[in-house]
Parts: sequence; C-alpha cells; structure tokens
Amino acid sequence: MAVKVVKFGGTSMADAGAINQVADIVKSDPERRYVVVSAPGKRFSGDTKVTDLLYACYHDLEINGECSATFAKIRERFEGIVKDLGLDLDMKPILDEVEKKMVVNYSVDYCASRGEYLSAIVLAKKLGFEFIDAEKIMIFDDNGNFMPEQTNELVAKTLKDIRYAVIPGFYGADGTGSIHTFSRGGSDITGAVVARAADAVIYENWTDVDGFMSADPRIVENPTIIKKLSYKELRELAYMGANVLHPEAVFPVKACGIPINIRNTFNPQAPGTLIVAEVEEDEFAKRQITGVAGKKGYSIIFIEKELMNSELGFGRRVLSVLEYYNILFEHMPSGIGTLSIVVSDNELAGKEDVVLERIRNIVKPDNIEIKSGISLISTVGHGMSFRPGTAAKLCEALAKANINIRMIDQGSSELNIIVAVATQDYEKAVNAIYHAFA
Ligand code: ASP
Repeated sequence: MAVKVVKFGGTSMADAGAINQVADIVKSDPERRYVVVSAPGKRFSGDTKVTDLLYACYHDLEINGECSATFAKIRERFEGIVKDLGLDLDMKPILDEVEKKMVVNYSVDYCASRGEYLSAIVLAKKLGFEFIDAEKIMIFDDNGNFMPEQTNELVAKTLKDIRYAVIPGFYGADGTGSIHTFSRGGSDITGAVVARAADAVIYENWTDVDGFMSADPRIVENPTIIKKLSYKELRELAYMGANVLHPEAVFPVKACGIPINIRNTFNPQAPGTLIVAEVEEDEFAKRQITGVAGKKGYSIIFIEKELMNSELGFGRRVLSVLEYYNILFEHMPSGIGTLSIVVSDNELAGKEDVVLERIRNIVKPDNIEIKSGISLISTVGHGMSFRPGTAAKLCEALAKANINIRMIDQGSSELNIIVAVATQDYEKAVNAIYHAFA
C-alpha cells in the first residue's frame, strides 16, 4: 500500500474540535499512515502557543528554579483537550513526569519539545495509532546539528514494522539522550524527513490556510493561491518570508522527488498547493511570475573604488572580512567601480564600525558606507526564464508607484529578480509588483 505522510500544524492541534477534524482527515484515507504533529497552537488571536508557554517555563526555571504556575497552563490545555475528546487517557502522570524532568534536568530544547511530545501522545490515542517518540528516531549530534543520513536509515528501519504511527515533530536526541530541537516551525522538517524515509508518494502538510499564497495577505488584499510550484520557487519564496512551510523542509523530499501538498485542515475540500520538482511548461506559459515575497531589515555595505575591476582578489578580500566577523551576506551585485553587499541587520548589529575599519585597511576603497533601512523583495517564477520584459514590467511598476530601486539583482538562473527598496516603500512596492503581474 502506498504511504502518505501527513503533518498537522499548531492550529490543527489547538483544541478538541480541530483534533477531531484532524482525525477525520487521517481516517478518511488508509494511505495516511504516518502522522507528524506540532504542539497545540493558538485557538484565537491573543492566545498563547503551548511552545511559547514551554519557553516561558524554561525562563521561570532559570530565574526561580521552578515553573509550576506556567506549567499549570499547559496542564490545563492538555487536560481540557483530552476531556473534550472523551479519551480514556490519564494525562496527570504523564504531565507530572514532564514537569519533574523539566525541573531536574532542564535544558531549553527539552522544555520546548514537550508540546509536540504531549500532542503526539494525545493524537496517537485518539487515532489508535502507535506513538513513536522522536527522540528514538531523529538523530542529532552533541552540538545539536541534525544528522539526516543516519536518521533516514533509522526511521526507514523503524517504520518498516509499523503500519500506522504518530510522531512528534520539532525534536530529536543525540547519542547521550539529550533532546535537541530544530528552529521554530521545525515540525515541518520532521514531516519531510519521515516522508523521505517512508518513501512516501506524497507529503501532506496540513495547516490553516488554503495553500501557498502568491503574496503576503497582510500586505496584498486577497492574493491568489498558487496551485502548483517547484521546490526551487518554494525555497526562494520561503526564504524571503512566505512562511507557510519551514524553508528547510524542502531538502529531504526534494532529494527523492516527493511532492508536498499544502492543505487546509479547516477546508479539506480545497486542493491546496502542490509543490513538485518540475512544473510543466504549459503551466508557466500561463503565468509570468509565481509569487512575490520579501523581508525588511537589511543594510547595504557600499564600496567604491576606481579600477576595482582590475584588482585581482578585491571581492575575496572584502568577503574575508565578513567571514572573519562571522557575517552571512545575502547578495553582492557589482559594477566596474562599485560593490554592494547586502546583509541583514541582525548579522551586522554591533559590528558596523569594526567591519568598515577592516575593509578600509584591507582594500583601501575611495568610499565605503553602510546604507541602512533597506527591504528586499523577491519576485519569483520559472515563467520569467527566456521571456523578455519581466524586469521591464517590474521596474515600470515601481517607477509608476514612485518608488526608487536601491539595488536590483537577477541571477542567471532567471528564477527571481530581487530589488532593494527603502523600508518605508516596502508595502507599496510589494503591491505595485504584485498587481503588475496579477
Ligand atoms: N511548536 C514549534 C513552534 O511553535 C514547532 C512547530 O510547530 O513546528 O515553533
């Protein structure tokens, strides 16, 4: 029988009503055999996600050595869910043990991971599926780095003998048994890892929207849902802030061509967004771009030097400074006598002066300055390849909206065009680009 791996996010696990919906979805298709879950998320705006309560517990432990008041809220959430679901499951001893372990042997990752752990126990009971603890199958090294190949082998071996299972997302353990988590939203990665190991025909990622939107709905009114996009397009859009799926969740499934289907738990009829290796040519013919995404909070290190282009190793020497100070950069468009390096403000914070000083010493530029208050907007789509006029249309749309382009960068893969604009123009620019291609 074919295997489908399904992952349900925090809103899908938020309360008994949502969990009943999840159970209906899983049970409606016997091929949905392995279920990965997040911790219960927000039930209403202003509510607190269980994971955030767990981080708060860790904080309490650091300060007071105990966290019973905050943990009581977590107890209440899970006991309420189990009661409302009418499950014959006594959560008290399980919750007691979690709280005890958090106090005795606390680490931030251990605390943060318990939401997924508890959520998976509850759903396994509801579905009558086996519970597989992620600490037994998701392998990290002692420094908290995920080990994909070892994990793949172990998960494949484990699942061979188990027909139906629920697995908590977000965490795993190292050889000593210490828990490590992925970054926030990391249950998506667990789902992708399980899909790869189970050789799934599809990885269904169930969330609370109808699919991947072609622009941020907080900025553009009613953006269209993208029906189909490629892993590469997804990676670009997700990296630039479209946050339906964790950006790292693409790698495990991409390696073996497993499609990802973004679906809505609260509207299961909707087909969602399908993410595949290759989108058919005729699909591209219909659309010039697939989506627009962007991020605020960047600066440009702008370097000017006459005859820079004939100085061998100039770029390398400049970049060696960034490397020395552990600063990642995003883009580096250059001209004959200019080099612009785009870095996020978080990377640069507090290091501005030393970086400028060192670059001055090493390459003796005529001028160097940091231009801050920059936002990046990425316009993404295979449809722009070999089709003249995409950049022209984009620039025209920005010109018409009276927005100055501070930098523009298009790689030769022609998958995206990135423009930098002043942050005060960001929302206006995203709208201008979106509507030019809509
Ligand atoms: N519960 C974790 C978070 O809130 C991981 C996840 O939901 O994927 O980030």
